[in-house]
Amino acid sequence: MSESQSQGRTRWRVGGGRSKARPAPVETGQVVAGGCDHPGCESPEAFGCAYRDRRGIECHRAGCAAHLRRVEGRPYCLRHASVAEVLALAAQRGTAFMPPDLDNRIATLVLTVGRGLDAGVVERLERMRGTHQHVINDQAIRYNRADRVRGGQGSWDRSWALAGSTGHVVRITVRVEESHPEEVQMLVGRTVVAMAVPPWMHRGADSRPAPGSPQDVSERTAFYEALLNGVDRHHQGLRAEILSPGPPA
Ligand SMILES: [Zn+2]
Ligand SMILES: [Zn+2]
Repeated sequence: MSESQSQGRTRWRVGGGRSKARPAPVETGQVVAGGCDHPGCESPEAFGCAYRDRRGIECHRAGCAAHLRRVEGRPYCLRHASVAEVLALAAQRGTAFMPPDLDNRIATLVLTVGRGLDAGVVERLERMRGTHQHVINDQAIRYNRADRVRGGQGSWDRSWALAGSTGHVVRITVRVEESHPEEVQMLVGRTVVAMAVPPWMHRGADSRPAPGSPQDVSERTAFYEALLNGVDRHHQGLRAEILSPGPPA
């Protein structure tokens, strides 16, 4: 997998695809699980909305071909199609502005924690990096849809990866599940290596230390260290494997 393929929603597919009897498929975007989100629509077909706000948070909605609209060649949920049109029009007039923020508390938490962890995670990946491997630091906050048929819940992710010529060698992810909106998980690959509740969510608003005060700083530091320590513990066992040279090309 090349870097460009692994970053962002670049995996464009064509709708349907299985039945030859269907009319010419419309290019709709990335196929996702869980069915169309449009109220009342029961189509099992779902394609992700291409909207991404100025902070890198992606829209979590998906729609079937009937409940998406294409703006400048990209598929959007019906809510964001109009935003995308305004953005496109503004860009044409030379008054471009950044895509407005999505209002989602869990995604915003993942964004905040991802920023707090960024330097520590990148530093670790750089240390683990073998020859011909490079760090992928994808700023996007992505929604993992749950299969609604199975009644699961979704989660929000921010990931970093070490990639080599044959694909991802290791991926580190910060994740918050919708079912546990205060619990931050740290994953290496698919393994949860640490879990912690951010200190600013422990207490009520009136008992929180002042932002930037020594107590606030030390609580935040301890929280981020707990997550990074999970990665370190996990990698002590994996390091030899990661650094070993791959098979000769
Ligand atoms: Zn639909
Ligand atoms: Zn959308």
